[in-house]
Formats: sequence, structure tokens, C-alpha cells
Amino acid sequence: MIKDLFHKNRPTYSLEVFPPKKDTDVSVIYDALDEFKALHPSFISVTYGAGGNTAENTFAIASYIQNQCGIEALTHLTCAAIPDKLFLTNFLTNLYRNGIHNLLALRGDQPLWMSDEQFAARYYEHASDLVKDVREAYPFSVAGACYPEIHQEAAGLDEDIANLKIKVEEGVDFLITQLFYDNETFYHFLDKVRGVGIEVPVLPGLMPITSFGQVKNIVGLSGTKIPKELAEAIEKYKDNPADLKKASLAYTKKQMEDLLSHGVDGIHLYSMNKVEIAKAVYE
Ligand code: FAD
Repeated sequence: MIKDLFHKNRPTYSLEVFPPKKDTDVSVIYDALDEFKALHPSFISVTYGAGGNTAENTFAIASYIQNQCGIEALTHLTCAAIPDKLFLTNFLTNLYRNGIHNLLALRGDQPLWMSDEQFAARYYEHASDLVKDVREAYPFSVAGACYPEIHQEAAGLDEDIANLKIKVEEGVDFLITQLFYDNETFYHFLDKVRGVGIEVPVLPGLMPITSFGQVKNIVGLSGTKIPKELAEAIEKYKDNPADLKKASLAYTKKQMEDLLSHGVDGIHLYSMNKVEIAKAVYE
């Protein structure tokens, strides 16, 4: 189980993949996983239903990671995707019986196909409600999400961290942050988190920018700040994709080294099925 790794193999180095979209060849992800395996990550997480991906594939991919690659798989699950407790029980039973004992419990955002009324009427309101029922069902290693730059619906950092504390007290074993590019923001967040008595490992989430087009998406989806040094590199190389990637990878490596020198519990790389990116950062 992942929670045991923090005693044995700290800092952890993890990766994240997503199920390919319906019209994409699913074998691509299995080929990528075979290559990720050579990097010996501590665990690989698999997203659930985000960005229009097919939720059905999440289980199959997590099972491949756990049972074929022999790497701890962390399955994401969102409240938005759970119609009732029976669905949750079946999903968890399936995971548990297949040797997948790690779950990232999330609220999720409103899927495009879901009406406001349907989303508002979801069975579990917050990730903390889901954590509670997961805990009662099986002895999973449970992860939660957190936001160094504040979740967009929270009134402020203190409120968001007070809510995070509720989630952790329901039984979260470790946290993974939303991606960020400014380490100082993370250190400030971590001080606050520790200050309210949250003691579980917190894994900073890093995502190298691989193209100019991606910048708008990243900022739009996560609301993250792009520090001056990175913004200048993006501007300088916006018409030169190869150099932009090189500069962005160099930035991520520098960011990672600084985090490691501050004694972080691990690094979570939003590798998103990109083998060359994971290799460039972790090799
Ligand atoms: P919550 O913890 O429920 O928090 C949401 C908001 O409610 C916050 O503003 C919080 O302050 C507030 N809140 C929380 N608990 C309470 C409470 N008990 N009482 C009152 N207010 C409360 N999305 C996907 O669809 N699929 C994925 O696979 C996915 N993976 C992710 C992985 C990571 C590491 C991260 C950081 C995010 C991921 N997301 C994913 C996005 C995530 O679902 C969204 O950011 C979502 O808006 C919030 O989810 P959460 O679990 O943090 O929610």
C-alpha cells in the first residue's frame, strides 16, 4: 500500500496517467506504462472521468499497473461519478479483490454532460464524505487533493485548509497538490497545513509545460500562477516548440531539486501518458 512507502522509500516519485479518449487506440497507454515501469516509480495514479475520459477504462488501467507492472496503482474516484452507495461498494470491492488497495477520493468537477441540478444532487457532496465511506468499506490507503493556490470555490486559504482538515480527519493518509510552478506558494501552504495539525505526507504536483498551446489550458483549468522566470522562457520560445520544451523541463527539474532540498515527502509528476517527459524528469 502506498501509505507504507513513506516509511520505507521517502521521498516517493510518482506518475499520473489518464485513460485515452473513446476514439483513441487504448493500446497506447499500455505501451506507455511498459516504459514507465523502467523508471521504477513509487506509484502511478489513474484519473477518473476527467476531461471527457472514459471512466470504464480507469479500473482496467489501474489493474494493469498493479498486476502486470507490479507497481502500486492509485485509482482516482470522484463524487460526481457516484450515483449511490451500491455503486461505491461495487467499485471498491472490484478494486480490492483485484489487489488495488489505493484510492484518491475526489469531489470532481461538474462533467459537461451533467446538468446543474444533477451535479447539485450528487450522492456525496464533498470528498470528505466519500473518504468516510471508503474507510468503512475496506482498509484502502486513501489519498486526497489539496490546493496551494486555494481551491477556486473556497473563500480563502484558511477556509480551504479548515475544510482540508475535515477531509484528513475522515481518514486521508496522504495528500497530492494541484500543479503549481511557484515553490514559495507551496512552502507557505505547507506551513499553514502543518500549523493546523495536518501531519500526513503532502506530495507536490509538478507538470512541465510541453507546448505554448498548453499554457492557456493549464492556467484556465488550475488557475496557477506562472512565475516571471518561466513566463519569460515561454515568451522567448513561443515559436520554437523544441526549445520551449527544453526550457520548461529545465524549470521543472530546478523546481524539483528545490523541493527535494526542502525535504518534501515525494514528488508527483503529472506525466499524463507522456513517456519522454517522465524520462526527462525522473531518469
Ligand atoms: P473537496 O475536497 O470536496 O473540496 C472542494 C471544495 O469544497 C473546496 O473549495 C473545499 O474548501 C470545500 N470543502 C471540502 N470539504 C468540505 C466540507 N466538508 N464542508 C464544506 N466545504 C468543504 N477531477 C476529476 O474529475 N478526475 C480526476 O481524476 C481528478 N484528479 C485530480 C487529482 C488531483 C491531485 C487534484 C488536485 C485534482 C484532481 N481532479 C480530478 C480535480 C478535482 O476533482 C477538482 O479540483 C474539484 O473541484 C475538487 O475536488 P476535491 O476532491 O479537492 O474536493
